[in-house]
Amino acid sequence: MNRSLQVHGKPVDEHTRCVHYGTRLDIIAIRFFCCDRYFPCHLCHSETTDHPAEQWPREQFDQPAILCGMCWSELSIDTYKSVDACTECGAAFNPRCAAHSDYYFGN
Ligand SMILES: [Zn+2]
Ligand SMILES: [Zn+2]
Ligand SMILES: [Zn+2]
Repeated sequence: MNRSLQVHGKPVDEHTRCVHYGTRLDIIAIRFFCCDRYFPCHLCHSETTDHPAEQWPREQFDQPAILCGMCWSELSIDTYKSVDACTECGAAFNPRCAAHSDYYFGN
């Protein structure tokens, strides 16, 4: 467990749910390429920073940029995209997040 990591934006609990996404499955935070900080979602980023979000370039998809809000392990983007649950603790991720992946990851 890595409690030294800080999640910015508007989280509402210790599992990185936020004021925008708060279902049982919304348990990840994303490290943003532009500012190297974790936010629960793109709305948290846009509402609490003064710059546009930048997407991760594909050649850096091996970087740890996904934080599991259950065990606080960091997963790489490649790993996150290939699983539907945390590889460390088995917590299920929200499959609907894939619809938003353009906000975070380039193609
Ligand atoms: Zn940023
Ligand atoms: Zn949010
Ligand atoms: Zn986990």
